[in-house]
Amino acid sequence: MIKSILKSLVYKFHHNSSRKLVIITSDDWGSVRLSSAQGRQALLNKGIISTDNRFDCYDTLESNQDLEYLFEVLMKYKDKNGAHPVLTAVTNVANPNFEKIKHSNFKEFHFEPFTETLNRQPSSNRVFDLYSEGQRLRIFKPESHGREHLNVFWWLNMLSDKNSIAREAFNLNYYYLTNGDWENKDELHLSAAFDLFETKEIEEHKKIVKSSLKLFKELLNYDACYFTPPAQKYHIDLEPTLKSKGIRWVDVPLWQKMPKGRGKYKHRFHYLGQKSTAGLRYLVRNSVFEPNMYGDSDGVDSCLAQIAMAFRNNVPAIISNHRAAFVGGIDPSNREKGLKALDRLLKSILKNWPDAEFITVSDLDSFLDNN
Ligand SMILES: [Zn+2]
Repeated sequence: MIKSILKSLVYKFHHNSSRKLVIITSDDWGSVRLSSAQGRQALLNKGIISTDNRFDCYDTLESNQDLEYLFEVLMKYKDKNGAHPVLTAVTNVANPNFEKIKHSNFKEFHFEPFTETLNRQPSSNRVFDLYSEGQRLRIFKPESHGREHLNVFWWLNMLSDKNSIAREAFNLNYYYLTNGDWENKDELHLSAAFDLFETKEIEEHKKIVKSSLKLFKELLNYDACYFTPPAQKYHIDLEPTLKSKGIRWVDVPLWQKMPKGRGKYKHRFHYLGQKSTAGLRYLVRNSVFEPNMYGDSDGVDSCLAQIAMAFRNNVPAIISNHRAAFVGGIDPSNREKGLKALDRLLKSILKNWPDAEFITVSDLDSFLDNN
């Protein structure tokens, strides 16, 4: 009974359709994580990161080659409409400006547009041109992952202590830490940009949302319509701001933990296409494609099973993915495995469901009725 209720929620869609829609949402584009293989080794040596976290094994700024190889795979396939598979690339449009923050003696936060981060690295200096090329070919469509993938206030708070682990990590341009100062510290990750400890932080989050969507438009020349909060955490009070700046879809888990502050959360159920009180639609992912998450497995078969389940229930397959699957800057074999798996996934989708259609989140509106 409980199982069937849960199932009906997982596969509830505002407007059920027998069309076999496939959306691949891929997070973290544009964001820095590990600066380099040497930087990673230094973090490991200092005990700041471990080998348990796959992002701390592989995730780094995308390179020219990463995108070129990824695009090659996407261009190999076409659906029945002649459309190539397309990544909805959930993008951070800025990164911390480490130099300026240090110059302020760790008192002020400064960011730089991610285009500056890219241009500083010769191996990534054509990435932004490739973003444009990917859009022209309709295989890569950036949407919003906020400004930086970082809780600015928590970080500054930690950095104020010159003996903190945050300072040690800062010297290696790294900030994916747990906020160890507070209760429930396992819940409080600096990467959760819009998680909060005090409710007064919400007003600052609103400013960051506005600044991120303004920068998105300046860089990409269109308004983002889809917002994935980093770590899927944000307070519902941000929704009117998101809506007023052009966002139509917000990415939430089926079982959302909305932060209320001080490590407390309100739990809410969501389903795909559900309308929020602020007039946004909720997007709930129902399939996972993470080729570097399961050891020897490439994650393709489990993803295909989830897609099959979505289609059986007449809802679009919303596939969850991260950039870490396709980047080779830390370990080239990670990219090789990820692209091989993507190739097998796309080939299998078209073989199993010849009427599958590849779309982006921005295309999804047309499949909803107006209620
Ligand atoms: Zn993310």
